[in-house]
Amino acid sequence: MAARNIERKNTNSRLLKNYGSWLYCTNCNKTVAYICYTTYQWIKISFQCTCGSNGDLELKETGAILAEQIDHYNKLIIKNNRYCCAVDEEPLFSLVAKQTTMFEYAVSCLKCKTLYRGIFNKPEGAW
Ligand SMILES: [Zn+2]
Ligand SMILES: [Zn+2]
Repeated sequence: MAARNIERKNTNSRLLKNYGSWLYCTNCNKTVAYICYTTYQWIKISFQCTCGSNGDLELKETGAILAEQIDHYNKLIIKNNRYCCAVDEEPLFSLVAKQTTMFEYAVSCLKCKTLYRGIFNKPEGAW
């Protein structure tokens, strides 16, 4: 697999690896989500952890053009506990529902370029 050029911004959160893997709340050091490494073009997450801390994360492929993509609100599908693209079933991320009281996402699938957005409040109940 070719190396990816990813720009990263984050606050009050820490990723286990450069472009993906487990996302931690830096206040309590618990995992709030898992980001699949190879399937996003852009992903932006804001969360509130059950410890009360708010954090965010943005990963964007250098040169990705997002402006003309169509938003799909709450259209991701769930497969094997992963939120996946509804077009090609590419796994994008999973959410540690019991560790978050709010979770907002925007994610663009690298394969088909579809953009998804959504928000979960008290995600535990949503599952
Ligand atoms: Zn926390
Ligand atoms: Zn896709």
